[in-house]
Amino acid sequence: MKQISIVISVYNEEEALEQFYQEAKPVFDALSWDYELIFVNDGSTDRSGRILDEFTKRDNKARAVHFSRNFGHEAAMTAGLDYSSGDGIVCMDADLQHPPQCVAKIIEKFEEGYEVISMVRTRNQSAGLVKNITSAAFYRLINTISDVKLEPNASDFFALTANAAAVLKSSYREKVRFLRGYVQNIGFRYTTLEYEASPRVAGESKYSIRKLLRFSVNTILCFSDLPLKLGIYSGILVGFLGLLVMLETVYEWAVKGTPNGYATIVVLLCFMFAMLFIVVGIIGEYISILFTELKDRPIYIVGRTENFGSGSDKRVFDTER
Ligand code: UDP
Ligand code: MG
Repeated sequence: MKQISIVISVYNEEEALEQFYQEAKPVFDALSWDYELIFVNDGSTDRSGRILDEFTKRDNKARAVHFSRNFGHEAAMTAGLDYSSGDGIVCMDADLQHPPQCVAKIIEKFEEGYEVISMVRTRNQSAGLVKNITSAAFYRLINTISDVKLEPNASDFFALTANAAAVLKSSYREKVRFLRGYVQNIGFRYTTLEYEASPRVAGESKYSIRKLLRFSVNTILCFSDLPLKLGIYSGILVGFLGLLVMLETVYEWAVKGTPNGYATIVVLLCFMFAMLFIVVGIIGEYISILFTELKDRPIYIVGRTENFGSGSDKRVFDTER
């Protein structure tokens, strides 16, 4: 019998976990494949860790990977992939926004021979208008300026066969990460499935506007080098404007005898310095990412694991494999 690994990222989800388990467990029990539940505890500071240990004690299909501290959702999903041993792997959230019922459809797709499945939101009940508009703008921008094509409304709900996941286990070990972007660009037989995101069952979203903005900027920088070339384009633009101003100055001098200098100089200086600082700032952003990648610090650090089989549970620190 084939097995599916279901990876669930958990960060301070004490209010949602029990409900997730109660609701999802019977759904998973009815699947045509065997399954394992890999909960990745991303350094929760509430009771989530203890709740997960309880799951692992009463349920031999539940496993837990406890990080040494919070490393972020991307790191949590990555660890889940690394620790999975199924023939197929699904990543999902712990707040029931990703309906467990979809896993049956994912298995059907696997059986039809698809290797990579992106789950696409048709409606996000909990996202406000602003989040929907900014998200659409983000995807439009990234699809315009980068070589990769990203599915708008794709989510951190996706599935891969072990074969496709092997690519992400050995490569794409970037520190500034965008896993769903990699998932959509490794090739293989690819398809999408639609789902309706329900509202979060309990607790609050862990993504603040600031975090989302940072994340979007980094993703654009990591998937495109167009911003880096902005320097050349603005140089050409400023050079061209300078030429026009020069012609105008010569004209004033020829017609009126006195060129009107001061205002022009102030405007031009402001304009040029603004351009310059923006370009320098963009280069700074890329250097910051380069620096992070160069330091090569681990994507995550595992404090301990539970229920991965006798002997394989790690009690000592295990940096990213
Ligand atoms: N999450 C995580 N680490 C973090 C932040 C979030 O593992 O640093 C988990 C969180 O517990 C949830 C999932 O990632 O299961 C998605 O987070 P959330 O629901 O807060 O994001 P949203 O659905 O609002 O985009
Ligand atoms: Mg959520």
